Amino acid sequence: MDAVQTFRAGAPISRVPQGSPVIRYGLVPVAVALTLGIRLLLHPVLGGSAPLLMFVLAVLVCAWYGGWGPGVAATVASALAGWFFFLPDLYSFGGLGLADAIQIATFGVIGMAVSSLHGRLRSSRAREAGRLVELQASEERVRQLAETLEQRVEQRTAELEAANRALEAFAYSVSHDLRAPLRGIQGFAQALLEDYGDRLDGTGHDYARRIAAAAGRMEQLIQDILVYSRLSRADLELAPVALDSAVREAQAEVELPLRQRGGEVAVEGPLPRVRAHRPTLVQVLTNLLSNAVLYVAPGAAPRIRVRAEERGSRTRLWVEDEGIGIAPEHQERIFDVFERLHGSDTYPGTGIGLAIVRKGVERMGGSAGVESEPGSGSRFWIELTRAEEPNAA
Ligand code: ADP
Repeated sequence: MDAVQTFRAGAPISRVPQGSPVIRYGLVPVAVALTLGIRLLLHPVLGGSAPLLMFVLAVLVCAWYGGWGPGVAATVASALAGWFFFLPDLYSFGGLGLADAIQIATFGVIGMAVSSLHGRLRSSRAREAGRLVELQASEERVRQLAETLEQRVEQRTAELEAANRALEAFAYSVSHDLRAPLRGIQGFAQALLEDYGDRLDGTGHDYARRIAAAAGRMEQLIQDILVYSRLSRADLELAPVALDSAVREAQAEVELPLRQRGGEVAVEGPLPRVRAHRPTLVQVLTNLLSNAVLYVAPGAAPRIRVRAEERGSRTRLWVEDEGIGIAPEHQERIFDVFERLHGSDTYPGTGIGLAIVRKGVERMGGSAGVESEPGSGSRFWIELTRAEEPNAA
């Protein structure tokens, strides 16, 4: 910020380098005396002709180096010297004729003009130099700021990563520890139904079943949180994976609900190989397929199509369904943790499935997304780098 505020284009430059006045004005007698000496030496040859001409040189030098003031001083000194030494009456300031007076006046005007020009030139040169100095200083300040900013970003990123890791470790251990009491609840609810079922009335049965079902849902939730946090922490080693076999394995996972709903999955093979972590890829595909099986209109049979599309060095795998679809405003947030568009009564779920999809794919160097319209199905995609190695996993 400092650098930006300090340098304003067109602002008056406070420290224009001028050069020492002693040297600038000291040059005047030296230049005039030198010119006078030379002119005196040449006097036997030149006589009284062009008595002031050579002094233009002295004026030029003084104006060029010293600017307007020294230029004027050199003009006056030169005019006096020329008048005194070369114009009648010689060696005095008297007896000046009209022609000589005009000569001195012309010299004076030329000297003033030259001094003024050089003076302006000199100050604009000095201004430019001043601007350049300020510009360089600003650039240096901007560079330093950028460096500091980079360091700060690195530091904050490291802190954030550490906080994230701590949070994930916390989620992992909490989820892990929750499982034991949960199994107790499930087990005892089951035991209640099996061993004391005959002593419970209808309401008792209902309550015990609800306890078991709620514990089941919680078990699923914990399971998903564990998968998600494991995915965030684990080192994923990538290797060539045949998409064909990964899709088959994921299909087997959803076989039962798919059959129960009378649905089918059409795979447009052969699918290529991609660089991936096989268990994570299977998990990602299972989540996409099970969503495609689940999110259909009540009573409708899921129709799912899996196909691949080459995109440069990457492969985009599409999982397309003809289900209920997703409104555009929800299509991004459904990839966040715990984002659900339906209550558990309509469609059961934990809201972590697609978060696992995105996190998993990103950890494998890819990306994930969806195209969808409510009522006409969804086309989920994941994109991974294609593998060229011949031996697929
Ligand atoms: P869950 O399925 O456990 O609720 P997800 O993260 O897998 O969690 O999905 C988040 C939400 O995205 C779901 O609640 C659902 O509303 C929507 N969704 C996911 N897949 C589909 C799909 N194939 N068709 C329509 N909606 C979907």
